[in-house]
Amino acid sequence: MNGDSEPRAFECADCSSRTESDDFDPRCPRCGSAMLLSPRRIGRVARSDFDRVPPGVWRFRAFLPDVSADMVVTLGEGGTPLLPARRLGGELGLDDLMIKDETMNPTGSFIDRGSTVLVSLAKERRVRRLSCVTTGNLGASLAAYSAKAGIETVIRIGPSVDRAKLYQMIAYGSKVEVVSGASGAGRESSAALVSAGNPFLLEGEKTTAFEILHDLEWSQPDAVVVPVGTGGHLTMMRRALLELQQAGLIGEPGCRLIGVQLEASAPIVGDMRRRRRPRTLQEPLTELEGSEPIFRRAAIRSMEDSGGTGVQVSTKAVIQAMSLLAKTEGIFAEPAAASAVAALKLAREEGLLARDDRVVCVVTGTGLKDAKAIGRIARPPRRLAPAEDFVIRPLDLGPTKLRLMRAMARGPSFGYGLWKSLSEERRITTASVYQHLSELEDAGLARRSRVEVFRGRERVFYELTRKGSEILNALGP
Ligand SMILES: [Zn+2]
Repeated sequence: MNGDSEPRAFECADCSSRTESDDFDPRCPRCGSAMLLSPRRIGRVARSDFDRVPPGVWRFRAFLPDVSADMVVTLGEGGTPLLPARRLGGELGLDDLMIKDETMNPTGSFIDRGSTVLVSLAKERRVRRLSCVTTGNLGASLAAYSAKAGIETVIRIGPSVDRAKLYQMIAYGSKVEVVSGASGAGRESSAALVSAGNPFLLEGEKTTAFEILHDLEWSQPDAVVVPVGTGGHLTMMRRALLELQQAGLIGEPGCRLIGVQLEASAPIVGDMRRRRRPRTLQEPLTELEGSEPIFRRAAIRSMEDSGGTGVQVSTKAVIQAMSLLAKTEGIFAEPAAASAVAALKLAREEGLLARDDRVVCVVTGTGLKDAKAIGRIARPPRRLAPAEDFVIRPLDLGPTKLRLMRAMARGPSFGYGLWKSLSEERRITTASVYQHLSELEDAGLARRSRVEVFRGRERVFYELTRKGSEILNALGP
């Protein structure tokens, strides 16, 4: 699976052990943790060197693993805008707030920065098949870049993955498998397994920080606020600043890194602030809560070394921040990304940020992929045809719908058969039965199970979904 690759030097993100490996996704031989590429010696880089190359991740190739130019797989990632956020800043009491808008990446998330590097290396190593377990954005991104490279992908997702992310994976041609456990994957011998802690993926993620500094003409902001899932992106920001210092582009890194997690699940930030870890009681709101804290120690070290800290925000604050960001700055972010905006508010209140601090808030991914969140901040106009994923509305379960559900609970049935079972008791048209069925479908309580041809006519069979069965059981006989 490695083609003719050279061994590279890696360093454990947890215990700092070093090793050489030609593995694509190596684990620490001592503690089993994820490994990063060992810091390399970086020679001096002139500021003018960047003027000659177009914006994007590969502008910073002096800081990235070597890939020959004809092997680079790019969809135009990076080069995202650093936007002054005056209206949002006004609301939050921050006079010099900027947003690094990562929703503009090709698949809508900052992970594209990593995928271009990882998939380019995979192509160079003649990897034919990549596989990964993902909470969403990573799978969508890898699927797109692998499609461009002609590499097959097998993506394993949990049952609660955001629908739009799943649609992306399928559209890009991935083979998608649903697994029940978050990390329920076995290593597949024929495919290179990519984890969210993949060192090459992480190398590409350094470029968020490179671009922020480049766009600020190499002056450092006072603070960068970034959502924390695995802790990798934040860890690589610190590393990026150290590399820029080595290259002579900036002085000693003085920019505070502030990491953000949700109160419901804060394995990194919670440890840092020495708060008790609360158990997750509700359905996760963001991808962050589904992420394994692979870079826990490295991320805590990065925050502390930078003079920064971690912030925990509530689910409610994240939903409000999503709406505020969209309404003040025209940026529609997913909840994980909006957590950074929620953190700005809290950090201001706690005195972690001063009014005149120059603050960059990294908005890591688009809100258009997260139907659950859309339903929580936006109510569509009444007459709009309901699209299954984007309209979440309470359904009035009247007696007819309940009868239909009870009929379906006895086994899949077709529309006409359901009508007959009802019409014995009361007058109802078949059209009305189909309308009720369609509303049950929209509410996710029923679905079409199969189509049969009977005497030259199609019969569509309906059955209850799991949610439908649960509701019916909860209602009792
Ligand atoms: Zn280790």
